[in-house]
Amino acid sequence: MDNFISIANQISILEISYLLASVLFILGLKKLSHPATARAGNLWAAAGMGAAILFTILFHVKEGKHINNVPLILIALAIGSFIGWYASKKVKMTAMPQMVSIFNGMGGACAALISLMEFPKMQNAMAAAGDVHMLGGEGIAILLGLMIGGVSFAGSMIAFGKLDGRIGDIKHPILRIVNLTFLVVLFVALALILFMQPQTDNNWPIYLFAIAALIYGVTFVMPIGGADMPVVISLLNSFTGVAAAMGGFLYGNQAMLTGGILVGSSGTILTILMCKAMNRSLLNVIIGAFGVAGAAGTEDGDKTVKEISLSDAAVLLSYSQKIFIVPGYGLAVAQAQHLCHELDNLLASKGVEVKYAIHPVAGRMPGHMNVLLAEADVPYEKLVEMEDANNEMGNTDVVIVIGANDVVNPAAEDDPSSPIYGMPIIKALDAKNVIVMKRSMAAGYAAIPNNLFYHQKNRMLFGDAKATLQKLVAEIKSL
Ligand code: NDP
Repeated sequence: MDNFISIANQISILEISYLLASVLFILGLKKLSHPATARAGNLWAAAGMGAAILFTILFHVKEGKHINNVPLILIALAIGSFIGWYASKKVKMTAMPQMVSIFNGMGGACAALISLMEFPKMQNAMAAAGDVHMLGGEGIAILLGLMIGGVSFAGSMIAFGKLDGRIGDIKHPILRIVNLTFLVVLFVALALILFMQPQTDNNWPIYLFAIAALIYGVTFVMPIGGADMPVVISLLNSFTGVAAAMGGFLYGNQAMLTGGILVGSSGTILTILMCKAMNRSLLNVIIGAFGVAGAAGTEDGDKTVKEISLSDAAVLLSYSQKIFIVPGYGLAVAQAQHLCHELDNLLASKGVEVKYAIHPVAGRMPGHMNVLLAEADVPYEKLVEMEDANNEMGNTDVVIVIGANDVVNPAAEDDPSSPIYGMPIIKALDAKNVIVMKRSMAAGYAAIPNNLFYHQKNRMLFGDAKATLQKLVAEIKSL
C-alpha cells in the first residue's frame, strides 16, 4: 500500500511538472511573438524543456522502476547541448535558416527513431499475446510518428542543401506524379502494416516503410524552390511538431504531447501565413508548380540601367520629406544593419521621416528582417508591414531598396508568365524615386530578372551594401 501511495505521489508530481513545462512553452511562445520579448521567450521555453527532462529523470516510474540509464541520458544531453550551443554561437546571421533546417530535421529524426525502437517491442508483445493485427492507438502513433518524422528529417536535409546553395531544384513535371504516387503508397503501406498479424522479430516492413518515408521526404522538397522555400520550411517545422506529438501519445507524456502540438500548430499557422504572403495555395506549393511555368521576364537586352552617384543620392535623400527603406537578404549578407540604422538616424536628424517596409518573406527565414533590424536597435515602431507600407508609398519621396530583389519585383504584378506572378510585393514604383543598392544586376533567390532596375524612376547604386552605406553616410555628413 505504502508503495502504491508513493508511486501515485510520484506520478502526480510528474504530471504537475509536465503541466508546468507546458505552461512555460506557451508563455515562451507568446513572448517569441515580439522582438522585445523574444529572447526571454526562448529562455522560458528552454526552462520548460529543462524542467520536463529533469522531472522525468527524477520521477518517471514504470512497473515500479525508475529510469535506469541516467548517465547515458546525461552524456547524450551534454553532447547535444554543446553542439547546439556551439552551432548557434558560430552561425552567421545569414546562415540561420540552414541551421534551423538542420535542427528541425533532427527533431523529425528523433521522432522517427522512437518509432523504429518502439515498433519491434509492440509487435513482439502483441505476437506473444496472440493478437491478430496491430490496429490500435499505439500502432497508429508509431507509424505516423515514423512517417511524418522521416519525411521531416529527409525534407529538412534537402531544404538545408537548397538554402546553402549545395542542391539545385529538380522541377520535372513527372515529379508531381511520383510524389502523389509515393504519398498514396505510404498511406497504403501504413494501413497494411496495421492490419498485419504481429510476428516476433519480423521487422522488415517497418524498415521498408521508414526508407519509403525518407525517399518521399527527398522527392517532396526537391521540386520546391525559389520563392516558395519559406512555405516548405514552416511546413516541415509543423511536421516535426506533429511527429513529436505522436511520441507524446505513445509514452503518455503530456510535456512531449503539448510541446509537439504547439510546434505543429504554430508551424501550421506560419505555413498558412506564408502561403497568404506569397499569394499561393499550399497545394500549389507542394506540387512544385514554382518555376515550372516557363522562364518569365527574360528580356533585358536593350534596356538601359541608370546609375546614381553617391553625392546625388546624398542630396536626394537629405532633401526628401519621407523615405522608405526596403531591406532584403543582401542587407543581411553585408551585415549592414547598423549602418542602415545610422543612415536612418542621420536623415531623421535632418527632419526626414524614415520608415522600413518589411516584406514577410524578405531574407531567408520568416521574420529575418525584423530580427536583423532589432539587432541594430531599430525601433520596432519604424517597421511597417508590407500592406501598410504600400498604402503609404504614394506620398513617399524615395524608396531605398537595400539588398532586396524578389520582394520588389514588379513581374509579380504585371507578368502573368512569371513564376512569382501573384506574390504580393512592396510597390516601390508607387513612390516618386527609387534607389536600388546591390552589387550587380544579378537575380535574387527566385532566379528571375527584375524590371524595376530598368524603370525610369529607378537608379542603381552599385556596390556591397555595407561599403555603399558607409560612403553614403559620410557623403550626407559632408553636405
Ligand atoms: P533576394 O534573394 O531576392 O535578393 C537579394 C539581393 O541581394 C540579390 O539580388 C543580391 O544582388 C543582393 N546582395 C547580395 N549580397 C549583397 C551585398 N553584400 N550587398 C548588397 N546587395 C547584396 O532577396 P529578397 O530579400 O528580396 O527576397 C527573399 C527571397 O528569398 C524571396 O524569393 C523569398 O521567397 C526567398 N526565401 C525567403 C525565405 C524566408 O523565409 N524569408 C526562406 C527561403 C527563401 P547582387 O548579387 O547583385 O548584390
